[in-house]
Amino acid sequence: MGADLDRTGDVVDNGNDGEERTFGIDSGDSHGSESGSDSGTTGRAARRDEAVRAAVEQGLLSPGAPMVGLLDVIGIRESAAELRAAFDAVTAPGTPVLHAFAVKATPLVPVLRLLREEGIGAEVASPGELALARAAGLPPARTVLDSPAKTPAELREALALGIAVNADNPQELDRIDGLVRSATSRSPLGIRVNPQVGAGSIEALSTATATSKFGVALRDEGAREWVVRAYLDRPWLSRLHAHTGSQGIPLSLMVRGVAETYALAEEINRRVGRSQVDTIDIGGGLPVNFGSDVTAPTYAQYARLLSEAVPGLFDGRYGLVTEFGRSLLAKHGTVVARVEYTKSAGGRPVAVTHAGVQVATRTVYAPGSWPLRIAAYDAKGRPKEGPAVVQDVAGPACFAGDLLAEGRALPLLEQGDYAAALDTGAYYFAHHYAYNSLARPGIYGFVPGDDGPDGFASGGGGRTVFASSGGGRTVFATVREPQTVEEIVAESGGAHASALTALRTPDRR
Ligand SMILES: *Cc1c(COP(=O)(O)O)cnc(C)c1O
Repeated sequence: MGADLDRTGDVVDNGNDGEERTFGIDSGDSHGSESGSDSGTTGRAARRDEAVRAAVEQGLLSPGAPMVGLLDVIGIRESAAELRAAFDAVTAPGTPVLHAFAVKATPLVPVLRLLREEGIGAEVASPGELALARAAGLPPARTVLDSPAKTPAELREALALGIAVNADNPQELDRIDGLVRSATSRSPLGIRVNPQVGAGSIEALSTATATSKFGVALRDEGAREWVVRAYLDRPWLSRLHAHTGSQGIPLSLMVRGVAETYALAEEINRRVGRSQVDTIDIGGGLPVNFGSDVTAPTYAQYARLLSEAVPGLFDGRYGLVTEFGRSLLAKHGTVVARVEYTKSAGGRPVAVTHAGVQVATRTVYAPGSWPLRIAAYDAKGRPKEGPAVVQDVAGPACFAGDLLAEGRALPLLEQGDYAAALDTGAYYFAHHYAYNSLARPGIYGFVPGDDGPDGFASGGGGRTVFASSGGGRTVFATVREPQTVEEIVAESGGAHASALTALRTPDRR
């Protein structure tokens, strides 16, 4: 990873430990990788560099197509395999385990299909996400519905299809009662609880605070007894759900959330006198290391911690559901944007690129919580060399704060170069924000060709060196077409151009 850090200049870490956070300019080494997994790290950076070069060479990136999202198919498959292996290693043989990818992290049908092929299901939280999962061919038995605002129609559809549903609150359970009375359904049904174990370093993503909007707040007066009663009264409630992790939540807190949920399942089953709760859904929320190419923490570390803290969860008496999102996809996506202009303001160089708030909304609006590594590439898509210069990397939107990175030390970006925002495979380019009617970029998946990435030479100190070649070896597939201006007009009321001018107050005479 040394080579990558040299180029990205800055190490950022938005909180695997929730405490030590480095957002500023950093000399660029030695952060937070000791406990992580180095497997695949070098390959990942090399594949990405080669993909950027090939994207320029093959014309996916050009003056007329100044931004793309790239997805590393091999990396996604590797993460899916690591997830399965991590839980296989700690569960009793024969334990049913469903890893349901949180669709909201990367709502793209080809991604869901790829994950399906890797044995991963889908966790959906809206009619749109359910439709995406179905379009990807995910069967109801591998789909879980969790949203906090399900309409009667959504619930009816889910139960008709046999999709697992976790009720968020007592009013929703009432609705489900009605549906269960009126029709038979194969849907496994459960209740989402909030163990209220506390917040992490990003308030907006902390689902287990005392006042979180999600689930039944377990420590509130009477709530625990209400939950137990709900199961005693409804023999068809067979699952228990909690999702307490997310970016900025320390693993210890996630483990406590799962432990509390397990303890509640045990209590329910004891009070009922049988194993009524047969499956525990532990949610997702493994934090991602945005500071380097190292995967940390790993699924293996989390599964091991869980199995040590909550051994009963893995002894075969309970089926398991997980709902990881960010940790499956983040490190396998890259936004690459052309530098349209460069300038200097107040003595600071500014590179004006095509990637800003429309693809990196969280980073632009909350840069302290969501810093991204930026890699510099030259006009041919080759890693940019040169001394680090403190500069701003700006987006194209018309407000001053549209900065992808502020005061970042990088090789000086020049007109026609490319800036890449790394680790953006989840909650970034598939979460377009239509500011300035900027078009959604095309998204392409890639795999190395026959002789990549072995075509890379490995230099001193394990540093991977770009080996220039005849080129074009990386193979791309379109995941999503770039949005056209015609589509923007159509989505912006183009078919109703005179709707407002034709609207008159009715004549009351
Ligand atoms: C968002 C969400 C997830 C996934 O969270 P990540 O941090 O992306 O892993 C899982 N379950 C539920 C209920 C969620 O809302």
